[in-house]
Amino acid sequence: MNEGVSGKVVVITGASSGLGEAAARLLAAQGAAVVLGARRADRLAALVNEITASGGKALAVTTDVADRAQVKALVDAGVKAHGRIDVMLNNAGLMPQSLLERLIDVNIKGVLYGIAAALPHMTAQKAGHIINVSSVAGHRVGPGSTVYAATKFAVRALSEGLRQEVKPYNIRSTVISPGAVATELPDSVTDRDAASRIQQFYAQVAIPASSFARAVAFAISQPEDVDINEILFRPTRQDY
Ligand code: NDP
Repeated sequence: MNEGVSGKVVVITGASSGLGEAAARLLAAQGAAVVLGARRADRLAALVNEITASGGKALAVTTDVADRAQVKALVDAGVKAHGRIDVMLNNAGLMPQSLLERLIDVNIKGVLYGIAAALPHMTAQKAGHIINVSSVAGHRVGPGSTVYAATKFAVRALSEGLRQEVKPYNIRSTVISPGAVATELPDSVTDRDAASRIQQFYAQVAIPASSFARAVAFAISQPEDVDINEILFRPTRQDY
């Protein structure tokens, strides 16, 4: 695995909107081959067309991250197309006030399935980079976001354990915790009062998804002997 982004094979879950979509665009523009997973096939196809039309490399596999076999199929498709996987970006996620069962399936199990799918290839390569997406809510609990925060604390805990366990295989691991970034995430809140509160808050403080994409590119582009383990960033205007 070389320094920089260009030429790397990057698998991204939750690539059909928001942070994953922005990361796919930036990394492809910097020369990565991106392998995109999410449930909305039409959105993925549009993104693949956009990236390839501008000379980039992208392929899409419709994926529900709550289904382990589908996540494995996504990673394996990337390895089949490109011969290896350099980066696994476990980004797919839902917000507070979603059903507890779904939050755990997507936000925790989805990340574990991504790790499980990527690790056999990375350990065999003796190289790779796993990036998990937590949140400011993985550092601070607020009323109304209890289960969401629990899932994001879990992502940080499992990222730290992963960091230590993959050392023998020369694999890097990063957990990125964004503050409020303008995406479709608040739309996934099902409680109406909470949704309008969150939408107001986002309208006041949120920053563009390109902020996240740059953080991902920064972590990936370090020389191989540099392992950026945690990135926590917020809008400058955000208190929480
Ligand atoms: P969006 O709602 O815009 O995007 C979420 C993405 O996850 C979509 O591509 C969606 O695709 C995908 N997704 C949801 N459920 C599944 C599933 N079961 N299987 C596969 N893909 C799924 O939100 P964001 O871009 O903001 O969210 C991305 C990550 O960032 C999440 O983990 C979120 O918790 C985290 N985050 C976001 C913050 C923000 O302020 N935006 C702050 C902190 C963290 P599809 O519906 O097509 O499957």
